[in-house]
Amino acid sequence: MQTQKARKLLMIPGPIEFEPAVLAALAEPTPSHVAPDFIEVFGRALDNLRTVFQAPDGQPFVMAGSGTLAMEAAVANLLEPGDRVLQINTGYFSDRMAAICERSGALVTHVPAPAVGDAPGLAEVERALQQDRFTLMTITHVDTSTGVLTDVAGLAKLARAAGALSVVDGVCSVAGEALPMADWDVDVALTASQKALGAPPGLALVMARPRALEAFRRRTRPVASYYADWSNWLPVMQAYQARKPAYFGTPAVNLVLALDVSLAQIIAEGMEARVARHARLSEAIKAALTALGLSQVPLRPAVAAHTLSAPYFPDGVDGAALLGKINAAGVILAGGLHPALRTRYFRIGHMGAVNAADVLATVGAIEQGLHGVGYRFDAGSGLAASQRVMQGEAGHPPS
Ligand SMILES: *Cc1c(COP(=O)(O)O)cnc(C)c1O
Repeated sequence: MQTQKARKLLMIPGPIEFEPAVLAALAEPTPSHVAPDFIEVFGRALDNLRTVFQAPDGQPFVMAGSGTLAMEAAVANLLEPGDRVLQINTGYFSDRMAAICERSGALVTHVPAPAVGDAPGLAEVERALQQDRFTLMTITHVDTSTGVLTDVAGLAKLARAAGALSVVDGVCSVAGEALPMADWDVDVALTASQKALGAPPGLALVMARPRALEAFRRRTRPVASYYADWSNWLPVMQAYQARKPAYFGTPAVNLVLALDVSLAQIIAEGMEARVARHARLSEAIKAALTALGLSQVPLRPAVAAHTLSAPYFPDGVDGAALLGKINAAGVILAGGLHPALRTRYFRIGHMGAVNAADVLATVGAIEQGLHGVGYRFDAGSGLAASQRVMQGEAGHPPS
């Protein structure tokens, strides 16, 4: 067991640091998945997911698995061989979604970002939609490989106008970025427990709104994935929602207990306040990076996520050495992921339980790391920039 003195702050884009009350749920004696108390907890978690996804008319699905399973479940239930998919491509996870769609026999057209760190423009997407009849538009809300944020509201509207269903990979956005599913008329959104949703890894979560469920019911061929098939899960979710027992595959019982605790905390904070907190802390980190002379992968603030930051290593700095020094200073950050620039940048996750003290600790450790590798900068300038944002002197006023 690590001592408090030796503890390190985990600031990667998932898994994140979890609230003690969430972790405590993992230590509860595991109940039967059909025990009345557990049925109540699972039913409540499903109800609360509608609040967090802002989808009062949505059907939640909770399965044991990682975010990639949620991606697969979201599209496998809606695609039949030969269907066409338009993939809005902003990085590594967009590529993964395309590969998943192809596994279901779909033909994928990519609308690539004009450059790494950018997102395709709406006009270009509109043109692409006119070229074919698409079943789905798949959108990565925040691509965790680039830190690029897409305009889900605008894209979902275009999908709707073209008669395509919109599927949003919200693994790095749900409960961190604004994603009011019903207001934006998004058909399917998905996430995983270990990111902004704030529960340990192991749950795949999908929210499907009525148009997607109708399309699922109209399909003529069986879903290519047996485990992810909504025919198996829909009766189970509906049963728990009605506080009745059901079984298809054993739920990850303790993770559902943990999810229930986290969802209650998220709802107590309020979705607007939560999104505003993520925006403010993100701005504080990004202001520090700029003050320290580090440029970022997202090319403009309008396409920069608020759940993570993706700074380039300064010229002449050995990235692995820098991350090692930052770690030695007490903060764990992540390396690059996008294949085109993997070794040139790093990633800082700031979602879920993150607070102002975490931001200062992280910026302080980055300064120590930069100093340790011989990079020249004004000591304390990153911290000062963060403080100015958090004290409301720059950018968003504190809410
Ligand atoms: C993390 C992530 C995934 C994959 O989730 P896993 O739980 O690792 O399978 C997919 N999409 C995005 C945007 C992510 O950030």
